[in-house]
Amino acid sequence: MNTVNDKIDIKSLTLEELGALMKELGEPAFRARQIFTWLSAGCGGWDEMTNLPKALREKLRERCHLYAPGVLREQISAEDGTVKYLWELHDGNAVETVVMRYHYGNTVCISSQVGCRQGCAFCASAIGGLVRSLTPSEMLDEVLFSEKTSGLKISHIVLMGIGEPLDNFDNVMRFLELVNHPEGRNISMRHISLSTCGIIERFDDLAARDLQLTLSVSLHAPDDETRSRIMPANRNRGVDALFEACAKYFRATGRRISFEYAMIDGVNDAPWQAELLAERVRPIAAHVNLIPLNRVEERSFEPSSGANIRRFMDILTGSGVNVTVRRRLGSDVNASCGQLRRSTVRPGK
Ligand code: SAH
Repeated sequence: MNTVNDKIDIKSLTLEELGALMKELGEPAFRARQIFTWLSAGCGGWDEMTNLPKALREKLRERCHLYAPGVLREQISAEDGTVKYLWELHDGNAVETVVMRYHYGNTVCISSQVGCRQGCAFCASAIGGLVRSLTPSEMLDEVLFSEKTSGLKISHIVLMGIGEPLDNFDNVMRFLELVNHPEGRNISMRHISLSTCGIIERFDDLAARDLQLTLSVSLHAPDDETRSRIMPANRNRGVDALFEACAKYFRATGRRISFEYAMIDGVNDAPWQAELLAERVRPIAAHVNLIPLNRVEERSFEPSSGANIRRFMDILTGSGVNVTVRRRLGSDVNASCGQLRRSTVRPGK
């Protein structure tokens, strides 16, 4: 069970677990549902739960941890309305969340950890390493409080913020269960994407959950030499093992994988890499999402030129691969990749 300072982290509990807690407290079972509804609506404190008797609220206050994250910074893009939040967590750590306004609905991009241990060479989140993983309630808060603070109704979630979700597997699975619950926030699994740098040891566990979410794999290079250079996660098990794991996942779930590919000038944008990529993704009918690299101050990589991105894309489409180039949202607010946390929070936090 998730606890904070020896108190039960109530927002990380499932409806069934709340039921067990009510039983333990000698309360009627229907209270669990009332509390779950409050928590799923982003309730900020015990006193807001006005349909609970005061005595119960007092008991809960004593036994349970309930926290509402504070906004350390809010940035709104003048270009496209993208909103970015830096939240203060209960222990003084900070994480960022981005709300993007797509034609199909508002999408929240959430962090799964404070920092990251994966060390990708182009990524701002990796600088400073991993501080700690987020709890299910903290990930839920990113969704609920982004929605509440921005006033934008959220229909889609991507786990593409700071952190490696598969390094925080149990908490992420519990978060998904909570946010998807029909009596909770009720966001459809089909509207959720989980992005990983390729922790293939976890792919079977994920497939076994039989979730209807989209698995996104951050590939960024189709060859071991390049991928191991920019993504240390590749050094143990190479690209062949990654594609084997992806093929197995696809066979087990029937869900097509989406590959993220950040285009980096002179590193991964050569025609031979496009050809190799096409060869590898075609057998598993995967989708490729090309992303112009975001410049990160502390990193020396440059984005590929428009001409190189087009050339790369043409080779892929010419080979029958399903490709999109990601539209850049919120570039005026640096809305990606741990950059707000880096610029605001002192090292070590
Ligand atoms: N750890 C997970 C999810 C977080 S990163 C993962 O690796 O997938 C979300 C996406 O942003 C990943 O595809 C990541 O590789 C990419 N990314 C990181 N830094 C970037 C940058 N500077 N420019 C473009 N994409 C970047």
